[in-house]
Amino acid sequence: MAAQEVLLQVGEARCALRPDEACQLCQPGATGPDDCPVAWLVRHDPELAQELAEELRARQCG
Ligand code: SF4
Repeated sequence: MAAQEVLLQVGEARCALRPDEACQLCQPGATGPDDCPVAWLVRHDPELAQELAEELRARQCG
């Protein structure tokens, strides 16, 4: 897939860690939030996953 095609598809995607922001492909190797290595690490670390869930809940309520 050409880089421009990736950017067009990702342009619609939201950051897995900051859903109020568009995915900016800020992590090397990421083609979007689904294969973002940092998002993967956060999702697979129980403490970080809980912190992210609490942060997202707080944003929804705030
Ligand atoms: S690459 Fe990962 S951390 Fe960076 S904006 Fe996209 S989802 Fe978020």
